[in-house]
Amino acid sequence: MNEAFIGLGSNLETPLAQLKQALIQLEQHSDISELAVSSFYGSKPVGPQDQPDFINAVAKIKTSLAPIPLLDLLQSIEQNQRRVRERHWGPRTLDLDLLRYNNEKIDMERLIVPHRFMLERGFVIKPMADLAPDLILENGSTVMQHLSTLDTSDLVLL
Ligand code: AMP
Repeated sequence: MNEAFIGLGSNLETPLAQLKQALIQLEQHSDISELAVSSFYGSKPVGPQDQPDFINAVAKIKTSLAPIPLLDLLQSIEQNQRRVRERHWGPRTLDLDLLRYNNEKIDMERLIVPHRFMLERGFVIKPMADLAPDLILENGSTVMQHLSTLDTSDLVLL
């Protein structure tokens, strides 16, 4: 079994319901055997500010899916929830990112793991700390240590 972390975000069309629906789809998938979810957090958008705040969470799963089939699954869940993606870093009904897959480094056209921006994003690291505070990140710090270097003042625990 492989362990993967998935980042979830939404800022359109009842974001909390979008996240919960995505979590149900993951949990019910036959190739995902365990799912743990962080708390939910409200966060300010990255990039254009003229859009609603986001809701973010992180899920930890155990899965028999290889990385690319797992990415395919995440993208199909995004499509099912009619993801709106009109502009880069603009509003979206659902964004699912593969943050980590075991301790692997993957550098493919479609998939870069660990996720490129996760270390700089409080809205990823904070929920990850709920699930795996002692996990060692690619910079050698634990999630908790790394969290202490980030400004998370705009995060709201929901
Ligand atoms: P975004 O809409 O910003 O989440 O970017 C989606 C695009 O990033 C898709 O084309 C994916 O193939 C690509 N991508 C690369 N690495 C990852 C990753 N770790 N998780 C999710 N999407 C990824």
